[in-house]
Amino acid sequence: MQHMRLSSRVGRIAESATLKVSRRASEMKAQGIDVVDFGAGEPDFASPAVAVEAARRALAEGFTKYTPSSGIPTLRRAVAERYARHYGAPWPAAQTLISVGGKGALFESILALVEEGDEVVLHTPAWVSFPEQIRFAGGRVVEVPTDGADGFAIHAGPILAALGERTRAVILNSPCNPTGGVIGPEDLRAVVAACAERGIVLLSDETYERFLYDGAAFASAAALAAEFPETVAVVGSFSKTYAMTGWRLGYLLGPKALVDAAANIQGHATSNPTSFAMVGALAALEGAEGDVAAMVAEYQERRDLLVPALNALPGVTCQPPRGAFYAFPDVSAAYGDDIDGSIAFAERLLEEAHVAVVAGEAFGSDRHVRISFACSRADLERGVERFGRFLERRRPVARRA
Ligand code: GLU
Repeated sequence: MQHMRLSSRVGRIAESATLKVSRRASEMKAQGIDVVDFGAGEPDFASPAVAVEAARRALAEGFTKYTPSSGIPTLRRAVAERYARHYGAPWPAAQTLISVGGKGALFESILALVEEGDEVVLHTPAWVSFPEQIRFAGGRVVEVPTDGADGFAIHAGPILAALGERTRAVILNSPCNPTGGVIGPEDLRAVVAACAERGIVLLSDETYERFLYDGAAFASAAALAAEFPETVAVVGSFSKTYAMTGWRLGYLLGPKALVDAAANIQGHATSNPTSFAMVGALAALEGAEGDVAAMVAEYQERRDLLVPALNALPGVTCQPPRGAFYAFPDVSAAYGDDIDGSIAFAERLLEEAHVAVVAGEAFGSDRHVRISFACSRADLERGVERFGRFLERRRPVARRA
């Protein structure tokens, strides 16, 4: 019997590290182990009642058939109007694609832009799926490191220095998963303008748009799209903002040629996102502001609880994230002869202390681990306590190193 042969394309990518941690934590929970799960970024809140009710009604009324592949017109229009209202964005509904999660919109955009050997500039540490999507498309990732000592702020200078002949896109992710770093309005303008001058697409993943702390304002690339309509594109998601991860809904707004190309790919890949889920998302967009404000206020409290607690642990340094809902502590002081980096650290923490975190190596920084605080305060307290006990037990080992 002959073995099948997989494409070289799939050999370029590995399993999503965030989803892998969730899978492992779920397996352990299924075995009856009490795991504190700081792994995948998944809000612990219920989806808004208005969304659930609207989707339930749509299902009951038989809204269960294909819709236009780019999404239901009412939702496309509502997303476009929200961007026009909040940011003065110029995109009509026709330049608004509803996708299967923000991940779908990103993947389609990257496939639409990147040829074999093209470069995509990405500030790092970065969310695990960006490099994989770029590599899958045949592209090369050009990394622009951000610095923990500077709160992982995203600066224009190093991004501009990384632009070259082969650059097809710059991906911005502010607030950033995993670092919580943000880009300020002046740096954002500088990056957007430089991209426009060179015909490079600025793909701004604004999934964590609503999650900013200490009253910080959000600088959206959408606010510059009217000025630079040829090259600015924004991706967003219902998953985090509305605690609707499993509904799998996101969107892309941008230049017509890019949105049309992404829509074309979607037409052959998934067809429309789930019909009745889109009805729920529309209700969330129109009627769940109160839920969002309450969730964000709670995340602020959690951040303020978690970060000092982490910094009080032996050898842990953690900058307060400016946005998103992850802490990204440097735990490298605890490495030793038996733990050679963040993957081993995360594995041992899970196996010995039953705390799931994502190894920083997956995001491009082996000194760190990522802790999602999209979980209850009780879990945060339990998890940090276990984390502390794990570190205490390791102290003599780390000293030996
Ligand atoms: N984006 C979330 C995370 O980083 C969910 C999992 C994923 O899509 O990567 O944890």
